Amino acid sequence: MLLRNAVLVSLDPPRVEAGDLRIAGPRIVERAPQLAPLADEEVVDLGDRIVMPGLVNAHTHLYSSLARGMPSPDPPPRSFVQILERVWWRLDRALDEESLYVSGLCGAAEAALSGTTLLVDHHSSPGFLRGSLATLARATEEVGLRSVLCYEVTDRNGLEGARAGIEENIAFHRDRETDLTRGMMGGHASLTLSEQSMNWLAEAVRETGTSLHIHVAEDLADLDDCRDRYGLTLLERLDHHGLIVSRTILAHCVHMTEGEIGQINRQGGWIAHNPRSNMNNAVGHARAASMKRAALGTDGVDQDLFAEARACYLKLRDTGRGDAAEIAFGLLVGGHRLAAALFGLPFGKLDQGGPADLLVLDYAPPTPLTAASLPAHLLFGLSRSHVESVLVAGRWVVRDRRLQALDPRKLATRGRAAAIALWERMAEA
Ligand SMILES: [Zn+2]
Repeated sequence: MLLRNAVLVSLDPPRVEAGDLRIAGPRIVERAPQLAPLADEEVVDLGDRIVMPGLVNAHTHLYSSLARGMPSPDPPPRSFVQILERVWWRLDRALDEESLYVSGLCGAAEAALSGTTLLVDHHSSPGFLRGSLATLARATEEVGLRSVLCYEVTDRNGLEGARAGIEENIAFHRDRETDLTRGMMGGHASLTLSEQSMNWLAEAVRETGTSLHIHVAEDLADLDDCRDRYGLTLLERLDHHGLIVSRTILAHCVHMTEGEIGQINRQGGWIAHNPRSNMNNAVGHARAASMKRAALGTDGVDQDLFAEARACYLKLRDTGRGDAAEIAFGLLVGGHRLAAALFGLPFGKLDQGGPADLLVLDYAPPTPLTAASLPAHLLFGLSRSHVESVLVAGRWVVRDRRLQALDPRKLATRGRAAAIALWERMAEA
């Protein structure tokens, strides 16, 4: 397939250039101005539309797609731990196979239509645990997206529940990975993980050659618990178990010092920064400026990285940072670098050999779009409303604003029915 007359925009480094791309199978095989069509080649004239690498969501929860507008708990939660207990742990316990599958489809469809082509998901459904990751993979692959999945190991359902979570992660990594889908080890957070569970996680990471995806220092409660029970900082505890290694993903790190963030990055670990979720839970604001190996996550708020980047920028400006645009833009770039580390492919480039995970954006900027002005256009102009088409591994996932795999209206009808049943189960639990 030949994509002609595009404005090729890549972020790492910022680059804006008119040109054509030739796609064969899952890869970009040629990039040049005015490529001549080959015999029998499909030619798509983009009429100066923007082609940009698909965006990466470094931390999300597809299982929360059916939570939008659900009844508020009574009495309302007054702390972060109460938000977990009264909202998210009641929701995840009520998930069954159908509601999880529909939730996965709804989240993946929203991601695709928002220009997000890779979801790094952190999953929990203790009532439907075994096979839950395969169910999510079925949903993301049906929509056509890439994903990196893990099950969150926790002690809140006893050691038996923790062990079942470990087994789910191992089985998924061993049996179910594909070109589009990868597995990791998942842990909830230090505050719900005993030493036994941490040992199991460390052993599973070593034996599978994967890495850990875990919530860290999202709220002060996580730090206090670790200090009170183990006399350690969170980083000391994770490091003691050998869990801060290349491709480890630590979500949030709101309450970490600059020194700790530096140590995580030096040891090859990644931080997923989730500014909208942090503001929504009023847990504080992470030191995003200190994060060198980091990417943006939505934490399940939605799957829209354009919106996350804008919120990230505005929060940083609100705290007085003059380099807010540079930091927010750097975190979008970080998503591509994280994807490259997880899949071993040059994500974020539009060069020969790169994966054909691309967005076609119908964006006619009222001011010049150049490498220098690209961060401003990403933070003030571009949004998911400009996403016209999406290609993942060389296959159309969205074309001319139509999701290829599913009818979004029918999916939404199915979503609402599943949501009502899920909320009823939550009320009974
Ligand atoms: Zn999370």
